[in-house]
Amino acid sequence: MAEYRAKAASRVVWWRDTVCVYCGCPGVGADHIIPKSKGGPDIRENLVWCCQPCNNHKANRLDVEMMRRAFRHIEAQGGCLDWIELGYPKIWKLLGF
Ligand SMILES: [Zn+2]
Repeated sequence: MAEYRAKAASRVVWWRDTVCVYCGCPGVGADHIIPKSKGGPDIRENLVWCCQPCNNHKANRLDVEMMRRAFRHIEAQGGCLDWIELGYPKIWKLLGF
């Protein structure tokens, strides 16, 4: 688990986050915004810094409010979200951007 976190963290370090994108608490690791279990990819634009309680709460759910918040954060930092619209049209529709 620790090794996984270190690896995932190295992929999100680009966002320069130190606090959980969902609640602002100190984060502990990377979170897949679109969960891996729902086909979410291992790319920088699908990973944000996250705390343990939010990670537990979100789990494998497609929580629209949480996803929207995380993707807005990525967009605000210059990240591109075209991959969602193109590859995950149903989720894109849910997000309502
Ligand atoms: Zn949190």
